[in-house]
Amino acid sequence: MTHPATTAATAPQGVSLTLDGVTYRYGRGHAGLGPLSLQVNAGEFLCVVGPSGSGKSTLLSLLAGFLRPQVGEIRLGETAVRGPDPRLTLVQQEAALFPWRTVAGNVAFGLERQRLPRAGRDARVEDTLRLVGLGGYGPRRVHELSGGQRQRVSLARALAVQPQLLLLDEPFSALDDRTRTALSDELLGIWWSQKVTVVFVTHNLEEALALGQRVVALRGGEVVLDGAARELNVGRLRETLEG
Ligand code: ADP
Ligand code: MG
Repeated sequence: MTHPATTAATAPQGVSLTLDGVTYRYGRGHAGLGPLSLQVNAGEFLCVVGPSGSGKSTLLSLLAGFLRPQVGEIRLGETAVRGPDPRLTLVQQEAALFPWRTVAGNVAFGLERQRLPRAGRDARVEDTLRLVGLGGYGPRRVHELSGGQRQRVSLARALAVQPQLLLLDEPFSALDDRTRTALSDELLGIWWSQKVTVVFVTHNLEEALALGQRVVALRGGEVVLDGAARELNVGRLRETLEG
């Protein structure tokens, strides 16, 4: 029998991430991101904060390879990101699940491209569901789930492929406080056990400080603060973002 611990032991470790003078502009206007240089260590948990329109989602779209920088380069480990990369996965704010698939079918989605034998795939799906607190939920239908449970399924789908970099774009912001806290705690546990590199985007400063080892603040597409979470506080972050 496989167990989450076995999965973790065989999972690849987190990968480092480098942004080297990255700039992205939407059209001719100035809206976009950069120039931005940033180094995220393998296994680090980085939170990116900033008000609406500061470039957080643009940053994640660039990291995920959905957008290509017009200037500069993004590297995972030693290799440049030149499009969707199997070493990373993205969780978005609204769980974009397939309503016609079961919970297990949704989690298995990313695994279908990996040539895993059926039994291995089923075991991986069940292990990952257990990891996000949904053991036994595989046969359920998505419409039977609460918002928090759906977001757990999204997280499981992203984790099932054992990414080396996990990107999350305001993943818990549509959830109530209690559910958000529960999911945040679990995400920390998962990060700890899977040793994955995490880039977590939020506009919630408390959430960023509670979760991240390191916090980067964006304003107008540029980094205005980059520091260890334990040396920062909400007042300092707010001052920098408004200043
Ligand atoms: P955030 O996620 O921090 O709210 P975004 O990355 O979505 O910020 O947006 C950064 C800037 O780029 C904003 O000025 C926004 O209006 C602009 N922008 C985002 N997406 C597009 C798009 N598809 N076309 C044109 N401008 C965009
Ligand atoms: Mg956004």
